[in-house]
Amino acid sequence: MIQHLPKHVLIAGAGITGISCAIALRERGVPFRIVNKGRRVGGRMASRIVRDSGTTFDGRVFDTGASYFTVSESEFASVVAELETAGVVQPWTDTFHFADSEGIAGVKTGPMRYRAESGIRSVIEYLARDLVIEEGEITELPTSERLALCMPTPQAARVFPQASVLSSAVWEPVISVSMLFDHAHWSDFDGIFVNQDAQITWIANDGARRGDQAPALVVHMSPVLSAVHLVDPSEVIPIAIARVQKILGFDEEPTWSHAHRWTFAKPIEGTTSPAPDFVLGEVSLASDEFSARPRVEAGWLSGRDLGRALAAGG
Ligand SMILES: Cc1cc2nc3c(=O)[nH]c(=O)nc-3n(C[C@H](O)[C@H](O)[C@H](O)COP(=O)(O)OP(=O)(O)OC[C@H]3O[C@@H](n4cnc5c(N)ncnc54)[C@H](O)[C@@H]3O)c2cc1C
Repeated sequence: MIQHLPKHVLIAGAGITGISCAIALRERGVPFRIVNKGRRVGGRMASRIVRDSGTTFDGRVFDTGASYFTVSESEFASVVAELETAGVVQPWTDTFHFADSEGIAGVKTGPMRYRAESGIRSVIEYLARDLVIEEGEITELPTSERLALCMPTPQAARVFPQASVLSSAVWEPVISVSMLFDHAHWSDFDGIFVNQDAQITWIANDGARRGDQAPALVVHMSPVLSAVHLVDPSEVIPIAIARVQKILGFDEEPTWSHAHRWTFAKPIEGTTSPAPDFVLGEVSLASDEFSARPRVEAGWLSGRDLGRALAAGG
């Protein structure tokens, strides 16, 4: 009897989607390798280590990309339960404040948000702990492997231009500004959604998120302002500081700050079709955008579904 061996898969991207795809392939015995642009895994689940701040906070970690994640699907819930047992993630809060341009206006409860004490990147480091990740950028189609592009479609389209016609998602940029203060000039809060403000959309209390209670905030700039300052993200730092001072009601300046640019931060809305429509012959796509609710969980589900489809010969 002729046995068809599964074809080797090249996974490009070691964010939650690529790692979830790899785990699904490993479970089904399909050979694969993972190549990730950049030295660190995690993609948009990113944490930055403070260096040269001239304070005792050197070595502290800020979450500069995804702020937290939520859980609704049962298999993802099992993964999160494992992460919780391993001490990687912790339930954070179901209550955030909301504000307008003038200041805090109220509180709003929602689903439980999860945080990672060592920084959200540690989620990916844990999930990828037994995987070999090669550092490099895939720039062309491989000749003898199936290619799984696990990244936002605008990035996938640099390798495989046809990718752009498969997704109607429109991506918006975010510049996130991390700040350290000499002490907390605010009363306790976890996060603040800032509504109807032209400049910022969100303030996270990174001290509450980390659990170290450090006087640390992360501010997300609005998509429009971010788009204007993508070339030099540090230009938005004074704007972020002024908005935080106004909304939280203090005048002190941070002792350290840093701006990080996400050109493709979030799809404005999920895209046309979820799995398995994304499997295109020898090249496949997966990412958080293939969902009505693009987020960390959506990336995990998209990667898992792609891995299973590839293992099934889809
Ligand atoms: C500012 C911000 C705030 C967010 N807030 C939240 C939130 O609160 N809750 C939530 O659930 N989600 C949030 N998200 C979204 C969440 O981060 C994503 O849904 C999730 O991380 C998607 O993971 P991914 O693996 O699909 O893509 P990515 O994390 O973008 O990973 C793609 C990887 O592919 C690599 N790559 C790109 N091109 C190549 C190439 N040619 N070759 C090799 N590797 C390549 C990249 O370096 C990267 O490591 C936020 C995102 C941002 C940026």
